[in-house]
Amino acid sequence: MAKYKFACADIGMECGFKTEAKSKEELMPKIVEHAKTAHNITEITPDLQKKVEGAIKKSMF
Ligand SMILES: [Zn+2]
Repeated sequence: MAKYKFACADIGMECGFKTEAKSKEELMPKIVEHAKTAHNITEITPDLQKKVEGAIKKSMF
């Protein structure tokens, strides 16, 4: 089973937040929630979305 991982540091944030989920669809809300609570980012712009998606790593097992 594949895993999708995201680390906040990968988009240039000085932040130790990391999260993972079984699908991108599950992962995105977690990232959005973190962005809101930790970074006060209430709006995910297309630019930021692209950045985030580019930073998501897929790994097997
Ligand atoms: Zn963060």
